[in-house]
Amino acid sequence: MSAMDDIAAMLGPRLSRGASVCEQHGRSEAHYALAPPDAVAFPETPEEVAAIVRACAADGTPVTAYGTGTSLEGQHLAIRGGISLDLSRMDRVLAVNAEDLNAVVQPGVTRTRLNEELRATGLFFPVDPGADASLGGMAATRASGTTAVRYGTMRENVLALQAVMADGSIIRTGSQARKSSAGYDLTHLLVGSEGTLGILTELTLRLHPLPEAVAAATCRFPTVADAVNCVILVIQSAIPMARIELVDEMMVRGFNLHSGTDLPEKPHLFLEFHGAPTAVAEQAAAFREIAAEFGVAGWQDATTTEARSALWAMRHNAHYATGALEPGKRTLATDVCVPISTLAEAVVEAQDLARTMGLTSAIVGHVGDGNFHCGVRVNPEDAAEMARVLDFSGRLAETALRLGGTVTGEHGIGLGKQKYMAAEHGPALAWMRAIKAAWDPANILNPGKMLPPES
Ligand SMILES: Cc1cc2nc3c(=O)[nH]c(=O)nc-3n(C[C@H](O)[C@H](O)[C@H](O)COP(=O)(O)OP(=O)(O)OC[C@H]3O[C@@H](n4cnc5c(N)ncnc54)[C@H](O)[C@@H]3O)c2cc1C
Repeated sequence: MSAMDDIAAMLGPRLSRGASVCEQHGRSEAHYALAPPDAVAFPETPEEVAAIVRACAADGTPVTAYGTGTSLEGQHLAIRGGISLDLSRMDRVLAVNAEDLNAVVQPGVTRTRLNEELRATGLFFPVDPGADASLGGMAATRASGTTAVRYGTMRENVLALQAVMADGSIIRTGSQARKSSAGYDLTHLLVGSEGTLGILTELTLRLHPLPEAVAAATCRFPTVADAVNCVILVIQSAIPMARIELVDEMMVRGFNLHSGTDLPEKPHLFLEFHGAPTAVAEQAAAFREIAAEFGVAGWQDATTTEARSALWAMRHNAHYATGALEPGKRTLATDVCVPISTLAEAVVEAQDLARTMGLTSAIVGHVGDGNFHCGVRVNPEDAAEMARVLDFSGRLAETALRLGGTVTGEHGIGLGKQKYMAAEHGPALAWMRAIKAAWDPANILNPGKMLPPES
């Protein structure tokens, strides 16, 4: 029997070969072409995941894990066919250990679902990519978001894992302790491995106390360099920002078109402060003192919970708002991250380059971390335009590496960034290949992703 027959016998209707289900799992929010799997499996337990992987290992069928399919570098696409392993039915919050500030979840729980479940506890899970992604997918891409500047990324917020390995065995890594010196850190090898080393079937996540007071605001600056230089000084002054997000003038235009706002088309910072009420007031005052040096104007407090939610919803929808700038095209999102002292140089260079190359590009950035995205509109059917946009993206990657940064702060490698792996990692790339070969010798787990083909 083939793997597909075995899995069909095990899952019954929970293995779907229907064209629309396969297409839905082979589609991306980004510019990548449709790449449907041969079938989609919907397991409900770690043991079922293990049995599926064992069946696939027996005849070399590719297995690509699927959370919510929001990754932006084509990570979840089944480019070699096989099984798309949809983990959305493994969606239980297994435990909330409030006294230890952690929660144990299945991989299909989304970040907003977890926070809904935590509502009565006074705790929250901070990592917030714009999409309502699954926590398994977020761990697999080492995702972050607007609050990483204060609370860290998935790297800092995953304590322990259960994973199914390429031979179908089930392992546990890490513990509920806040720290450990016990052996190789397999938890953090799996975090960010994009489903190429194992399937995450359970996650223990770090939780944080809800802040006593929250204050949010927006303000604008004469130029993007002023806004970013303000951010650099704020971070270097150790003001504990909870959120500090840049949107450039083009992105503001996108928001106005998409959300019906009428923000002045100038670079803006979106801000949030967390702490005790007096601490929040002090942080905001310290920020405003620094911002005054850079010509800040138009300070707008978002005082109510509704106003704050509207502000961050607008920011989280930036990917879609970019669409309003040039309807009918797709958005290619770049994702470089640089040391904070070089951020102004990188952002200004990105804006100038887009203008010189005649591209419609809007910048948003988790700038407190030195991370920013250019959302560039492109028609993937237009080969010349696609080549120009990829050239732009490549030049930004070169800039990031020249400045001591990385080609991806949070979106990951997937398909699109493989070409920069050698430049970023040098000889370390061979050691990554050795890990993949040792952990998945038959190359069944998300084959063709992350590691570039050997030349
Ligand atoms: C509008 C929008 C805004 C975004 N904003 C951000 C942002 O601010 N920050 C950010 O980091 N990202 C952002 N993203 C990208 C995306 O949301 C993240 O990459 C997210 O972590 C993907 O999660 P997912 O559940 O959709 O995973 P998927 O896209 O389904 O999968 C992503 C990868 O993880 C693997 N995977 C999924 N589940 C598992 C599992 N259980 N075990 C092993 N491997 C698994 C898949 O095989 C694939 O390689 C944004 C995307 C959109 C569309």
